[in-house]
Amino acid sequence: MNSQTTICAQATPPGISGLAVIRLSGKDAFTIADKCFKGKILLKNAPSHTIHYGKFYDSDTLLDTITASVFRAPHSYTGENIIEIGCHGGYVVTNNIISTLIYSGATIALPGEFTQRAFLNGKIDLTQVEAVADIIHSVSKQGSHIAARQLLGGFKKRITAIRQELLSVCALLELELDFSHEDIEFIDKSNLLILLYNTIQTCRDLLNSFSASSVLRDGFRVGLVGFPNAGKSTLFNALLDKKRSIVSPIAGTTRDYIEDSLSLNGISIQLYDTAGLRHDSTDTIEIEGIEFTQKLLETSNLIIIVNDVSVSPVYSLSLYEHLVKLYPESKFCYVQNKIDCVTNIDIHNLNFSSIFISATQDIGIKQLKDFIEKSASENLERISDVLLNTRHSVILSKIISSLEISIQSLENGFSNEYVSIDVRNAIHFLGEITGEFMNEEILNTLFSSFCIGK
Ligand code: GDP
Repeated sequence: MNSQTTICAQATPPGISGLAVIRLSGKDAFTIADKCFKGKILLKNAPSHTIHYGKFYDSDTLLDTITASVFRAPHSYTGENIIEIGCHGGYVVTNNIISTLIYSGATIALPGEFTQRAFLNGKIDLTQVEAVADIIHSVSKQGSHIAARQLLGGFKKRITAIRQELLSVCALLELELDFSHEDIEFIDKSNLLILLYNTIQTCRDLLNSFSASSVLRDGFRVGLVGFPNAGKSTLFNALLDKKRSIVSPIAGTTRDYIEDSLSLNGISIQLYDTAGLRHDSTDTIEIEGIEFTQKLLETSNLIIIVNDVSVSPVYSLSLYEHLVKLYPESKFCYVQNKIDCVTNIDIHNLNFSSIFISATQDIGIKQLKDFIEKSASENLERISDVLLNTRHSVILSKIISSLEISIQSLENGFSNEYVSIDVRNAIHFLGEITGEFMNEEILNTLFSSFCIGK
């Protein structure tokens, strides 16, 4: 990234629309914009946070009537001078405006470059950068609300507070070392132990919100499994309320898996219709599908075993028991499908709970949806202002390990040096969360996943 350049890009999605926004950011933003914009005043003389109506020209050719929003450094998203051009939507007009800006001295922005500049100019930290991505890609109402709070700096504040506390501990430990020959104690060791245990607990609480955060970020993953012809595809369609998966009386028609999403009470549910599972399949394509199914189930939050009750209520029990052993972290649900085909079934003799449905007759589908929604919303209320991602969780685990070692050193009566080394490591890792200690590789990965214009 060259911070000397003035960059521009469309911030709104390309296509036909009433309005589009083009961002121009950098030290020459006003000079470049003034070459093309004719309004009541020159933009270089306009106060910050004002909007100006005018005409946008390519030399003498009028391209559009626009509004120019002026943000002066450092009071802007990137911390640089910014002009946000509000023009009419459409492929041609926006491209013409961008080409004219480039001709006048701007360069086209790389993906995520506006946000990268905001980060490098200290406007936002890495947790806020991640919140920007989460807001843009949000699939759930609650997820987008939490990302908004993270964007305001909620996570950053919590990390900074822990860091400050550990920094003062370190300072006292190290000061004590300087006075070691005088046997002065600057810090009470039992209080220090309590502080370290509490900090570990805070990190663990954050880590525990990881799976809920994943649900809010990517949706609650529900896999439908069962023996061929149990009615998985029919149920998949019934849950989605549309014809998406092929229903066939011929066993083994779903060869890999089909995926679609639905929203239950604001939570995005990712539904997967999988290949029928069979232990003794000799059809090679279907075996490949079954491998897909196994990979998919590994990451499912809820696994629904679809059983053909007209064969027997316990027909899929061996499959259920097999999968519970394989995926102990997942939640399970045993669904008795084709209830319309049986007249007489003794529920009381079943020593496990099931939901009874008919996917073709729309019986029990509402009850199943309620069950999915309840399973998805469990734990969600625990998270408030942080959408934990894999990067955070890896670093939090390192912080916990470092603090655990420092506790061991303390309990074994080791010298302050040994205790403070690991507290310092924890402090360093906390700085990695906020981006204070930047790892270029991480930064590049993060920003390249953004779209152009963000
Ligand atoms: P899959 O192999 O598990 O995906 O099963 P399908 O959804 O393709 O269904 C297999 C057959 O069972 C089809 O002929 C469906 O119409 C039928 N079927 C599915 N659900 C029901 C149901 O609730 N009642 C009845 N009577 N038939 C069903």
